[in-house]
Amino acid sequence: MKREKKAAWISEQLCVQAAGTCNVYCAYCQNPPDGKMPPLARALAVIKKRGIKSVSLEGGGDPAANPLFPAIVARLRGAGVKNFMLSTNAVALADQALCRAAVRDMDFFTVNFPSHLPELYAKATRSVKFPQALAGLRNLKACGAENRIRLFHIISAFNYKALPGFAAWTAAHFPGVAFVNLTFVRNAGRVNDDPALVPRYRQAAPFVKIALAKLKLAGIKAVVQNFPLCQLENFEGFSFEFQRWRRGDKVLEAGVKTAAPCAECRRCALKPACCGARADYARIYGTAELKTSNRSPAGIRPEGF
Ligand code: SF4
Ligand code: SF4
Repeated sequence: MKREKKAAWISEQLCVQAAGTCNVYCAYCQNPPDGKMPPLARALAVIKKRGIKSVSLEGGGDPAANPLFPAIVARLRGAGVKNFMLSTNAVALADQALCRAAVRDMDFFTVNFPSHLPELYAKATRSVKFPQALAGLRNLKACGAENRIRLFHIISAFNYKALPGFAAWTAAHFPGVAFVNLTFVRNAGRVNDDPALVPRYRQAAPFVKIALAKLKLAGIKAVVQNFPLCQLENFEGFSFEFQRWRRGDKVLEAGVKTAAPCAECRRCALKPACCGARADYARIYGTAELKTSNRSPAGIRPEGF
């Protein structure tokens, strides 16, 4: 698929909640499943009315773990949907038949995979499903869909020191992924103001930078999200929000909370292209780490996109 064409369908994408439960229990889950899923009829009506062709299948929970997953895909297709993106932790894709069907039906897989190390994975997801998640990723690769994987790695207090190792592991085992997104944990949902789950920016930054450098050297596209530009000195071009600013999009995606008020940010030349620090981060650590810059975002060289 050509880049322009892909971008066009993604911009018209509808998020469809296709699960109400999950098969792991991530400590950092922002949108914890509550067992409920809105009636699919509502999404189908919107799709038909607006002629929507592209959907992103999401939770509360994991759509691939929903026994109704194939039926939901069939009904959406029947309503006219042509392009599908699936948000998943890949655990259910350990089932080869399910994975093959998903590869047939889905254009992209956004895979929440918080560690390549079983013990860290267990802490982050409070589960023993590491072997299944890894099998799911391997099945996707075996089915020829490695280049349709978007690897989402939430940076938390559990795993930030292992980021360089994660980058090296990705380069060794999944060098063909579409991209890697390192997203700094948001203090929402189950995080619930717990500093044991949220590192400080300045603690995580050196590891984030090494990981980004390793991914770049391996030829893997990578971004870092929800991480202030002043914490990314010399690596600002990897910032997801900076990339959005450069494309002319709003810096923060729809529904993402805005930055906490901060005197350093008010004076900062990078502000138009920066996510700042969220109020939920500031609630734990304040904003003393943030540093005003005189640098224009226009002078930052974008990386990889
Ligand atoms: S895989 Fe996603 S939905 Fe499931 S617990 Fe983890 S963050 Fe929440
Ligand atoms: S001071 Fe604020 S606006 Fe400037 S780079 Fe840091 S977080 Fe972004």
